[in-house]
Amino acid sequence: MLRLNDPLLLKSQLFINGEWVDGDSEKTIAVLNPATGIEICKVASATKKETGYSIDCAQNALQTWGKTTAKHRAELLKHWYRLIVENIDDLALILNAEQGKPLAEAKGEILYGASYIEWFAEEAKRIYGDIIPSTQSTQRLLTIKQPIGVVAAVTPWNFPNAMITRKVAPALAAGCTIIVKPAEATPLSALALAELAQRAGIPKGVLSIVVGEDSKEIGKALTDSPQVRKLSFTGSTKVGKILIKQCADTVKKVSMELGGNAPFIIFEDADIDQAVKGAIASKFRNAGQTCVCANRFLVQSSIYQAFTDKFVAATKKLIVGNGADDKVTIGPLINGNAVQNVHAMVKEAEQNGAKIVLGGTPSNLGPNFYPPTILTDVTSDMHLFKEEIFGPVAPIIPFDTEEQALELANATEAGLASYLYTQNYSRIWRFSENLENGIVGINEGIISTEVAPFGGIKQSGNGREGSKYGIEDYIEIKYLCMGGI
Ligand code: ADP
Repeated sequence: MLRLNDPLLLKSQLFINGEWVDGDSEKTIAVLNPATGIEICKVASATKKETGYSIDCAQNALQTWGKTTAKHRAELLKHWYRLIVENIDDLALILNAEQGKPLAEAKGEILYGASYIEWFAEEAKRIYGDIIPSTQSTQRLLTIKQPIGVVAAVTPWNFPNAMITRKVAPALAAGCTIIVKPAEATPLSALALAELAQRAGIPKGVLSIVVGEDSKEIGKALTDSPQVRKLSFTGSTKVGKILIKQCADTVKKVSMELGGNAPFIIFEDADIDQAVKGAIASKFRNAGQTCVCANRFLVQSSIYQAFTDKFVAATKKLIVGNGADDKVTIGPLINGNAVQNVHAMVKEAEQNGAKIVLGGTPSNLGPNFYPPTILTDVTSDMHLFKEEIFGPVAPIIPFDTEEQALELANATEAGLASYLYTQNYSRIWRFSENLENGIVGINEGIISTEVAPFGGIKQSGNGREGSKYGIEDYIEIKYLCMGGI
């Protein structure tokens, strides 16, 4: 049992129209702790029926919520933010239990997630229109910005809290209503957030959470509905493409935050210790299960050995185990399938000539654990180079020239994050401008913050979350042309 200060934060029902309800089918989803395999609780499972009802309720709530003042919405969002921060210990326990990340990291996610609510509470009041100089002296032209309407959000298991606030906060700030379908592996953080939203006074129907074992069915109900005007998705590129297609028939606006394949490029003029620190943070956070995790370390040949030695030494200090233990810095992967996928990629690379210099054998801690692993002599034809690893595995690839580094860095369909380590300011500009990514970390391994735009290009998606740009995904611009003046 989870020892929560406030046991009411552990919810096992769906949250629709301000009420906690069971699914009609009476089916449930068992939520497991990935570190121990032990069931935390069972959660009700929705079908298209409950999803349809939540859409109707969101449409209904939109009529009033969409007309409230920004100041009012900002006050409710700030209240929600404060409640989340006050309950950080419980929320971190829930997050650690269902997702596995160490408690310190879980608390970091809660604050990070809450920061989007605080930010968009402030941004709500700054959704300005424009007055446009007219080409006719008898006309006056202006724009107003309005909520796009009912929004659907489908979110992943790697950030069960923050991926929800990153979508709900701008939606609510803009005056939209929203239905969230969290990942079936990690619904508890989403439900706890809904409980706090209700306590903060967010009106019924403005935020609903539908959890379901059949994500396809729920996804289809959300995308087929003409009432839903926008879909915001974070998850795999494969599912993102399916959802974009499904949204075509009703011409929904879509925001897609899909997979990455981040290059982490280190030039010979870099501060190697700084690069190692950034590499550890970027690669091993959340056991390598983030879309901005360094996926490919591209290291200039002259410092290849020096970097590898220091990186291996630093990685050896990480402690793998159950993240509920304070000493642990790397928790389990989400499930046994994830471990098998990661191990298969490591084996394929080894068979094709890569050298495992650390780790590489499944952990004896349990079926969901994989040790931090480093491989050298990786080449661009290996799966580790081409695919998103989503695990604690670092492939290192040598390069000689800046041109080679750029070619390797951009040799992927993904275009989310990248990292660049060099002290040469001309190269920083030149290389950053040529990288095909939405985000470039320069001598920095941790890049995400609510005040900056997060999002990718190429097949990593579209739209931006956070920052002054983030609200734009949730508003429509209406142009008013006033004549006869
Ligand atoms: P991951 O591989 O990280 O689990 P997915 O893209 O499979 O990423 O899952 C991300 C989210 O998308 C989860 O909430 C999952 O339930 C949901 N999902 C998966 N397949 C579909 C689908 N066909 N339609 C709608 N949602 C889906």
